[in-house]
Amino acid sequence: MFLIAHIGYTLLTAEIIAHLYYWLLLKKKNLEPTDSWGIVHFAFIPLIIGALGPDIIDKLISEPITGYGRYIGHSIPFAILMFILFIVVFRKKPTVYSALILGWIMHIILDTAGFIPWFFPFVNYTFQPKTQTYFQFLLQPYVYYNEIGGFLSLVFLSILYFRRGFTPKSFIQHVFTFTSKRFE
Ligand SMILES: [Zn+2]
Repeated sequence: MFLIAHIGYTLLTAEIIAHLYYWLLLKKKNLEPTDSWGIVHFAFIPLIIGALGPDIIDKLISEPITGYGRYIGHSIPFAILMFILFIVVFRKKPTVYSALILGWIMHIILDTAGFIPWFFPFVNYTFQPKTQTYFQFLLQPYVYYNEIGGFLSLVFLSILYFRRGFTPKSFIQHVFTFTSKRFE
């Protein structure tokens, strides 16, 4: 899957999970969501970084060395290692590590249509050499349909955020809010 689909679907999933969490668990404790509820619960920028994490590792670091765009960054053992790292480094900011982990999991899930070296390096895989350029890849129907789907998710979320009373300025402030006092 490609860039916009990864970001759009992940933000949409985070919004849904944040709301389910609120409606199923916190409502009973009479906690009211803030205007920024969905965004703040999973810190926005860490969510996007997590959603692109496996590709940042593999497309930027692994591929120039190995020639494979889905390598260790797309494996479960490496993901677990990263999750432990996120929790240790951001232990005082659950909104940050939960966002990084959710984004990472969503990336792997959204990539399952193609080859994934699930248990690398503990299992040997026949890695797929790159046969097409990114532009050719982008022109495949399943890729661009998902890019359109990701874009529509972002449009929907933008409408949702601005209906909550966000202005562009307050939205940007919230995007850079990595913690939520209420849920820390
Ligand atoms: Zn990927």
